[in-house]
Amino acid sequence: MATKTPRVKHRVKVIVTDDEYVYPSSRWGNKDGIHEFTEGGYDDGTVFLSLKVPKKLGKPKTYTVTVEYLGEKQYKQTYAQRVNAHQKNQDRVRKFKEEQARLELEKQEKELIQRRQRIMNQIELAFVKEGKEAVNFVTCDKCDAKAKLLGLQFENPGSSVIVPEQITGAWCEEHDNKYKRPFKTKAAIACGRLEFFYDGLRQIYVKAS
Ligand SMILES: [Zn+2]
Repeated sequence: MATKTPRVKHRVKVIVTDDEYVYPSSRWGNKDGIHEFTEGGYDDGTVFLSLKVPKKLGKPKTYTVTVEYLGEKQYKQTYAQRVNAHQKNQDRVRKFKEEQARLELEKQEKELIQRRQRIMNQIELAFVKEGKEAVNFVTCDKCDAKAKLLGLQFENPGSSVIVPEQITGAWCEEHDNKYKRPFKTKAAIACGRLEFFYDGLRQIYVKAS
């Protein structure tokens, strides 16, 4: 992350007079005629004056413009202190963001476990009811519809069974968004291809497509 340092602000006093008047300074500075500009900023130290134009032929008007540099804008803290405070603030922001990201990851992990648990409970029910077809028991993560696809955290080439640790979620036709699948989903398998059977262990079997 790029670290920006606070910018230096400069102060310049601008006074415009003629033989009779000291002109109001608010057009080019504050009420005391002080113009502030920031180094590297949009206004990099240019003062624009707006002066009345004389209308008498052959009588030039003389203005006196005095521009005095007053130095850096006076802060309560020195520039070094401000750089330090700015740095500390950026560190706080970075730590806050890191903590948010960590919490988000924790939340995603927890939700993944919950989805997997729900699906395993549904599969458990299928065994109790002696149902064979996953499509009749597994529901969508987002609604009560039957799931069309089961999300997998990793593929298991050559294996004809799905293990619970692979399951990341399940979704129906309506909630199928291939660009936004459940956390850690690397693959998906049609629920229509899944069949439950018992061979001493409860298994989720993948039928050849
Ligand atoms: Zn759904």
